[in-house]
Amino acid sequence: MNGLRAPAPAPPAEAAFDPEALRAQFPILRTKMQGRPLVYLDSAASTQKPARVIERLKSFYERDYANIHRGVYELSQRASALHDEARRKVQAFLGARDWREIVFVRNATEAINLVAYAFLRPKLEPGDEILVTEMEHHANIVPWQIVAGERGARVVAAPITDAGELDLDALAERITGRTRLVSVVWVSNVLGTVNPVAEIVALAHRKGVPVLIDAAQAVQHQPVDVAALDCDFLVCSAHKTYGPSGVGALYGKAELLDAMPPWQGGGDMIEKVGFEGTTFNEIPFRFEAGTPDIAGIVAFGEALDFLGELGLEAVARHEAALIAHAQRSLAQIPGLRVLGAPKERRSAIAFTLEGAHPQDIGMLLDLDGIAIRTGHHCAMPLHERFGLSASARMSVGVYNSEADIDALTAGLRRIAGMFQ
Ligand code: PMP
Repeated sequence: MNGLRAPAPAPPAEAAFDPEALRAQFPILRTKMQGRPLVYLDSAASTQKPARVIERLKSFYERDYANIHRGVYELSQRASALHDEARRKVQAFLGARDWREIVFVRNATEAINLVAYAFLRPKLEPGDEILVTEMEHHANIVPWQIVAGERGARVVAAPITDAGELDLDALAERITGRTRLVSVVWVSNVLGTVNPVAEIVALAHRKGVPVLIDAAQAVQHQPVDVAALDCDFLVCSAHKTYGPSGVGALYGKAELLDAMPPWQGGGDMIEKVGFEGTTFNEIPFRFEAGTPDIAGIVAFGEALDFLGELGLEAVARHEAALIAHAQRSLAQIPGLRVLGAPKERRSAIAFTLEGAHPQDIGMLLDLDGIAIRTGHHCAMPLHERFGLSASARMSVGVYNSEADIDALTAGLRRIAGMFQ
């Protein structure tokens, strides 16, 4: 591999953005649930996979599979080249300047743990702070708590308003001389709130504090450009971007990654091994110990091609229209309360229904073939902030249409009638 950027994805093909045609590309959406057509409104938990991604996994194992970076034979070289190419696709998708800034991991959670252990832990001292927000997923709370606990440091949360937005003044106040990292979610997996991450990065940088962006719910819904954002780290998962589960990516600025020690030892991450000592490989390989999910990584690249060809601007417009339609429709249902009212909301809406436990809502909707998520959505502190222990959440992907939202609304109306 050389340091050149991969070619830019094809220009947005607006004309091709037809939810019905898109739906047809997802084999699972043809299956019936409870004898009814599947209405899948849980893409925030995981997106379904288009046939071309499933086909890429299959064809990779059928035609291209061997271990990577090890063999001199043609098949291993081909697999290595495809794996390298996938890294270039992630680089181009995220807008990173250098392919070495992309580290393959298992998921967004592992990417955050990598930063917690290899970047933060070595420099953490008693009294230090990691600043997160009240709307974080547990993946962006617990890893920091574990390393902070070991070092006598602590995790501090910036508050959110009743509208489910960040209080930027309060966040700025909490960035002090003790803050070692600001780690903030771009799009909330519960409220759908879009946080002003560029502003937060600028704020933190003015005080010399690095920033990690949890983009697990962002990169599949809107264009991203890490170089323009100037964030220090950004994490995402392939399974939420129409790719396979078990693969994720960490973006880190080259100079930061370069200065970090390894966090897992093994094959591929070394330069020279001896019993007297071992030297480590260059980035990003230093952070990729052992055989990765090679086929999954190649199929992740295919998923990013799929999204790139749709055009992220077009995806954002389509999903914004769906969310607006959902907000209007849900507002008509008696006893339904939507969590938060952010000015900018993407992809997810969480709600409660008077008299009905979220679990019951989920189970009753399932009888209609409608899949939504219920529970705390790995965001217990956020639910506590709203005085709740659980909620129901609908979330959309490229294959959803207004008809899906209408099916949900009809189902919720029936349930409201049963419980009120
Ligand atoms: N952050 C956010 C905002 C998420 O929504 C999720 C997944 N629900 C994660 C992090 C963790 O993602 P994964 O389980 O793929 O590691």
